[in-house]
Amino acid sequence: MSGKLVVIGLGPGPAEHMTPEAARALAEADELFGYGPYIDRAPLRDGQIRHPTDNREEAARAAAALERAEAGAKVAMVTGGDPGVFAMAAAVVEQIEAGPASWRTLDVEVIPGVTAMLAVAARSGAPLGHDFCAINLSDNLKPWPVVEARVDAAAGAGFVMAFYNPRSKARPWQLGAVLERLRAILPPTTPVIFGRAACRPDEKITVFTLAEADAEVADMATCVIVGSAETRIVERPGLPPLVYSPRFFLPDLPAGRAR
Ligand code: SAH
Repeated sequence: MSGKLVVIGLGPGPAEHMTPEAARALAEADELFGYGPYIDRAPLRDGQIRHPTDNREEAARAAAALERAEAGAKVAMVTGGDPGVFAMAAAVVEQIEAGPASWRTLDVEVIPGVTAMLAVAARSGAPLGHDFCAINLSDNLKPWPVVEARVDAAAGAGFVMAFYNPRSKARPWQLGAVLERLRAILPPTTPVIFGRAACRPDEKITVFTLAEADAEVADMATCVIVGSAETRIVERPGLPPLVYSPRFFLPDLPAGRAR
């Protein structure tokens, strides 16, 4: 019996946001690994074995899934959004690189999903219509000065930035510190989107200017998108505003001015 490990992205919300390819791979798996709440979100069929784990046990979880695949099981590792964005696909490949040579011969497949920043962007207009980057604000796996240097460089170079893991009980001050740095680099009118639980029933998308943005609005279910100097807010009567970054770049146009 030959085993397999499929790393599956469930997308940002309920099953309708999952790709048909992900749904098919999930149905074919005999054993599911992943952070408990993600496994709870995965539609299950009878007979599938579930191995829910805590969010912080990523290396051990990846190794356990590889061991089961080597033993011949059809294993799925489930993650929210896309598995390659601040998630389990890299944890699995880290284990393959460091682990026994036999793991390099395993059948491993990564199935993409809609990542949080794309869901939040879609819900708010087109803020990622020009060049952008994604930065994980968690300093669990990298030193905080590295986060600061990347934020400064990205904002200074005119990238729209999507911040993942912006704020948690254990990391309450980081997003506020980042917004404070950005106020020294970007115009006060720069749009800031707090996209909470995008595509889920409790979705909440709020748009502020950088001057108004309050880090306390964010939690672990929020992806924060900070615009560039070109990003604009289009107000609409009786409807939520549309935030967008124009596809063109006019270097001589003062930030925030009407065209
Ligand atoms: N692999 C996931 C990201 C994992 S990191 C993906 O591709 O989306 C976890 C962070 O993702 C959260 O702290 C939050 O910043 C963001 N996130 C995940 N789902 C979200 C959603 N539905 N709406 C807004 N942000 C979300």
